[in-house]
Amino acid sequence: KVKSLEDLGISSTILKKLQEMGITTIEALAAANPQELSQNLAIPLPTVQKLVSQARAALGLGFKTALEIKKERMSLPKITTGSKNLDNLLGGGVEVKTITEFFGEFGSGKTQLCHQLAVNVQLPLEKGGLSRKAVYIDTEGTFRWERIEAMARGLGLDPDKTMENIFYVRAVNSDHQMAVVEELKELIPKEDIGLVVVDSVTGHFRAEYPGRENLAVRQQKLNRHLHQLMSLAELFDVAVVVTNQVMARPDVFYGDPTTAIGGHVLYHAPGVRVQLKKSRGNRRIARIVDAPHLPESEAVFAITEVGIRD
Ligand code: ADP
Ligand code: MG
Repeated sequence: KVKSLEDLGISSTILKKLQEMGITTIEALAAANPQELSQNLAIPLPTVQKLVSQARAALGLGFKTALEIKKERMSLPKITTGSKNLDNLLGGGVEVKTITEFFGEFGSGKTQLCHQLAVNVQLPLEKGGLSRKAVYIDTEGTFRWERIEAMARGLGLDPDKTMENIFYVRAVNSDHQMAVVEELKELIPKEDIGLVVVDSVTGHFRAEYPGRENLAVRQQKLNRHLHQLMSLAELFDVAVVVTNQVMARPDVFYGDPTTAIGGHVLYHAPGVRVQLKKSRGNRRIARIVDAPHLPESEAVFAITEVGIRD
């Protein structure tokens, strides 16, 4: 199996140029935009297109039979949420190669779930993890190491080791958020990342492009961001989890039509959408919204001191 760019038989001059652009892996090359690459490298477009398709072929991104797809999807590992109910709702847990969106009102448990998944991805396969690390992109400043510590303890994991395996970054605006995701092409393979969290994915975009008049440009930029995340998920076999805060009472909210309809950001992107609702006390209700392969149903879970449980 082909492992590195060198194995593609690329000439050393081009290899060096690619490296200068930060393209050091087959995944990065497969994800590259041939037009941009051609300009930046001053190499003819057809040559670049050939390189990129070679990289894609090496990663098995060509045609496949439906049976091959079935076997691939069935063998994809899932990350447990900590709640059997919620795992069952999700068809086993949060899937790699997929964007999972948790949307819901303030306090519905989106951030707690993100914390829990950043811990659980580190568990061994037999315990519902991937034995891999997590990236946590925080746009709202709601990440708390104390919660990671408590959740790690709750699972009998070493809290310091668990925290060492979570790469945290505070994204200060939407451009920064997108630049951070761009850098992940390098970090993910280097650190063996299995989960990328963006909490929240929509906050900066909403703040920077408020109201109806900015809806089109906001959605366009957000789509670009989601596309970035989707390629990471597919190329690196990582799970991408994003959150999206929506209004609890759309009837009294005016100004933003997407939030008003409780709109989820993945409207045009593939993935799994999970709506979270507050219930009594520490109980929360999760509902799958139009996932192509999962039935629409509900699950109840709890947010406890040691994390997400049934
Ligand atoms: P969202 O991100 O959807 O706004 P959060 O994930 O921050 O919501 O959930 C906040 C809720 O999580 C709190 O209302 C509380 O019920 C629960 N929670 C937070 N910290 C703890 C804790 N240490 N122990 C138990 N429950 C907690
Ligand atoms: Mg939150």
